[in-house]
Amino acid sequence: MRKVAIAGNWKMYKTQTEALEFLQNFLPTLETTPEDRDIILCAPFTTLASMSKNLHGSRVQVGAQNIHWEDAGAYTGEIAGPMLTEIGVRFVVVGHSERRQYFGETDETVNLRLKAAQKNRLTPILCVGETKAQRDAGETESHLFGQIERGLVGVDQNHLIIAYEPIWAIGTGDTCAADEANRVIGLIRSRLKNPDTTIQYGGSVNPKNVDELMAQPEIDGALVGGASLTAESFSRIVNYQ
Ligand code: PEP
Repeated sequence: MRKVAIAGNWKMYKTQTEALEFLQNFLPTLETTPEDRDIILCAPFTTLASMSKNLHGSRVQVGAQNIHWEDAGAYTGEIAGPMLTEIGVRFVVVGHSERRQYFGETDETVNLRLKAAQKNRLTPILCVGETKAQRDAGETESHLFGQIERGLVGVDQNHLIIAYEPIWAIGTGDTCAADEANRVIGLIRSRLKNPDTTIQYGGSVNPKNVDELMAQPEIDGALVGGASLTAESFSRIVNYQ
């Protein structure tokens, strides 16, 4: 059975104080949220320990935004799996296009990070997506299939979430049409060993478009950047109809 997962990606936003303020406003809105969906907040490292403590006993799970492939070592600025699990982190975003674009992440390092996450019993959220130029050149499918194939070597597809995030739709307000996101996600699914893998759509999801996106048969959830930053809009998204 495919699971639904709605995840917020806070990127490099929110101090610890701001994160806790968010929770105070957000948690009460979940009282009537249907049980069929997992809710995850992928927050900056400095907020993770207090988020985890404050979310204990709630239905919201904590995610990080990066993990190194070694459990410890001389890797200045990186973070290791045991450091995350010790403070109650359960998910981690891997291969976000911003990491690929600004920090030199490749399919090979993405693959190492995915395996490290699973070794540490974290569920990775693997992000894949094409640029506008790739889409215009008719290379969307080949690009995504390459990312999936190289990224998933030796990765357990039973403990994995994939997020299809067309890069041209991230942070632009230019959402991928729901039927097109559905089509591409169906294609990604057809390349997986485990067709029940949760596959999210990400890219300018907001309270206005979430219902239509979530009504698509192939879309199992959303990875949400900007619209996850206020309790009001993220609450509307997790309470999609
Ligand atoms: C993201 O950060 O993964 C994302 C999809 O951002 P936004 O929702 O702001 O487009």
